[in-house]
Amino acid sequence: MCQILIIYTGGTIGMMTDPRTKTLVPINFEQIMENVPELERLNCRIMVHSFEDVIDSSNMSPAIWGQLAGLIQKHYHEVDGFVVLHGSDTMAFSASALSFMLENLAKPVIFTGSQLPISAIRTDAKENLMTAIELAKAKKNDKVRVPEVCIYFDYKLFRGNRAFKYNSSKFEAFRSPNYPVLAESGVHLRFSINDIRPAGEEELIVHKNLVNDVGVLKLYPGISPKVVETIVNSDVRGIVMETFGAGNTTTDQWFIDLLKGAIDNGKVIVDISQCKVGTVELGRYETSKALKDIGVANGYDMTFEAAITKTMYLLSQFDDPKEITRWMETDIRGELTVS
Ligand code: ASP
Repeated sequence: MCQILIIYTGGTIGMMTDPRTKTLVPINFEQIMENVPELERLNCRIMVHSFEDVIDSSNMSPAIWGQLAGLIQKHYHEVDGFVVLHGSDTMAFSASALSFMLENLAKPVIFTGSQLPISAIRTDAKENLMTAIELAKAKKNDKVRVPEVCIYFDYKLFRGNRAFKYNSSKFEAFRSPNYPVLAESGVHLRFSINDIRPAGEEELIVHKNLVNDVGVLKLYPGISPKVVETIVNSDVRGIVMETFGAGNTTTDQWFIDLLKGAIDNGKVIVDISQCKVGTVELGRYETSKALKDIGVANGYDMTFEAAITKTMYLLSQFDDPKEITRWMETDIRGELTVS
């Protein structure tokens, strides 16, 4: 019989309105199970690990990602797959982080949650949970169908490090415009086999300690030298720079000089676009040529979530900024397409 580990971290799926404060707060897993008697009918042994402090995912942190990765490592050889119940707000960050932390992954790790609590009459939680379990145990000819860290939400399975939350009120909360969905659920589960990463062939390696020395520089017309200087000279080792269009920035000399100074001082700056669709093409326009010349890393079509967590991961692996820059521009877990 198949065996699945559900890891419950919190999120709306298991929330209830606190009668005192009238706000949504997480409840314990037993109360969730009571709402899904169908779980009993799955031909599968379900094990559950509930975090002691279940949280709204806005309180998610690299330390909790480390605990999640540790749990997956501990049960890796016992189970066929994992389902992580998680709030949708930061689910894409957690799924991206775990994709980097779990090297050589060969089993499904499916993140899911919901927009309405599982006890609500019109809840989306039951479908998300039941299908996430189906996906976590799916095999064909004894081979795992999705040996990846994924997000399952509203009938679609996304690669975790390609997805982001784009809608806070529709059931269709996630999108992945730069990479196809890995599977769709309807009457049948349909897998896009050519888009799914092959299972890791070597033993799983778990990297539990990400380094959060990361800053963000989001550009806008009129950004002042003082603001840029504060960010690029702050005490971080990596900076995710959100630029215009295909990776463009102002060509003002003060701006280029500040970035160059930071890179010369050992910081890594990665360029991703504020556009949700498309890719960074350093050197295509005059407004990105200097960035390439001074050593800004090309983030291609990475999501913000993937860029942040990849930077945290690379900072935990390497000291040399040139090496970090080289890996930043390399596809390591299916998170970017080199164009
Ligand atoms: N605030 C909730 C959370 O991220 C929202 C959700 O679960 O969808 O935990």
